[in-house]
Amino acid sequence: MQTFKWQRIVLKVGSALIAPEQNGCSSRYLLSIAQFIVRCRAQGIEVILVSSGSVAAGSHLFPADKARSVAMKKAMAAAGQTEMMAAWDRFFDFPSAQILLTHGDLRDRERYKSIRETIFTLLDHGVLPIINENDTVTTDDLRVGDNDNLSAMVAGAADADALMICSDVDGLFDKNPNLHSDAVLLPEIDKIDDSIYAMAGCATSAVGTGGMKTKIEAAEKATSHGITTFILNGFKEQTFNRLLEGENPGTIFMPYEKPMQEAIHWRTHTASEQGELVVEGNFTEPLDKNSKQLNPHEIVEVRGEFAVGDTILVRSDDGTKLAKARANYSSCLLNFIAENESTEFSDEVQDSIGPIISDEDIAVLEKS
Ligand code: GLU
Repeated sequence: MQTFKWQRIVLKVGSALIAPEQNGCSSRYLLSIAQFIVRCRAQGIEVILVSSGSVAAGSHLFPADKARSVAMKKAMAAAGQTEMMAAWDRFFDFPSAQILLTHGDLRDRERYKSIRETIFTLLDHGVLPIINENDTVTTDDLRVGDNDNLSAMVAGAADADALMICSDVDGLFDKNPNLHSDAVLLPEIDKIDDSIYAMAGCATSAVGTGGMKTKIEAAEKATSHGITTFILNGFKEQTFNRLLEGENPGTIFMPYEKPMQEAIHWRTHTASEQGELVVEGNFTEPLDKNSKQLNPHEIVEVRGEFAVGDTILVRSDDGTKLAKARANYSSCLLNFIAENESTEFSDEVQDSIGPIISDEDIAVLEKS
């Protein structure tokens, strides 16, 4: 029998578990999840809850006969969030804390560090962090969009050992179990590649926004950070009993043997690029060996508008994505540098300019 040794876990609970009838919160499925949280904490395991369901919980407060605009969904989320927090709070005799995040918060390195510190402080003081996306303030540009990916980013930020994604399916099947009666549950996945994404298809839940694809994305983010990830059926009480007995009740995704460093992981999986730098050839190979910096004459094109400190995608001129990196110069200044690179004027300028991107701020991407 396996035994799991966790110090800190992130539990992601989907909307269908919170508000199965989309008519306010229901305690039907939450009780066994809450008991699991209580039992983990009693064993000294720190728990962070990522709870979806504010939209589903708040929907009964708004007319059902009208088409639901984005504004109305945000209003549902705002109203449902308090209902959902109250529903969770009822189960616990320890305090909980609400954290509402957007991708805009997570991709900003300073705000990300602040989120980490707050989570650690809450855990140190025995408070249960309950996290959701801040739907009220999101725009297309600012949102994570699904709590599967959000939970993986949170697990990375919180240095968790395990991420448990509780859903309405038993785990990952080799084909969609809703369409194929001979679909087989895959208990263990060692490496996430295109064949795993192909199995995920585009199965979605009727209540939440994620599907199997976003769960695999989350598993990829988390496992690359060394975090064991599970996809589990949160509707079944036995799921949680089996976990506590050290059994795998769903699909387990094994962590990378050599996890990425926190800062590299953040840049690869959480920071999103604000622009692109197209460069000649493949500068990342020599850069890996610390033998070469990117020179101004290697810049082929600067795409988009970005500021100093933003994350940019570095792409080779054949289109291959090479790396994500911190921009040491704004797009405006880089355009100037690239355009004037061959003039005499640039020789003087070139001597005075620092690295276009610095080694310590580069996340080299796997070639795909
Ligand atoms: N933030 C959304 C909510 O709480 C859920 C997003 C999701 O289902 O993944 O309703």
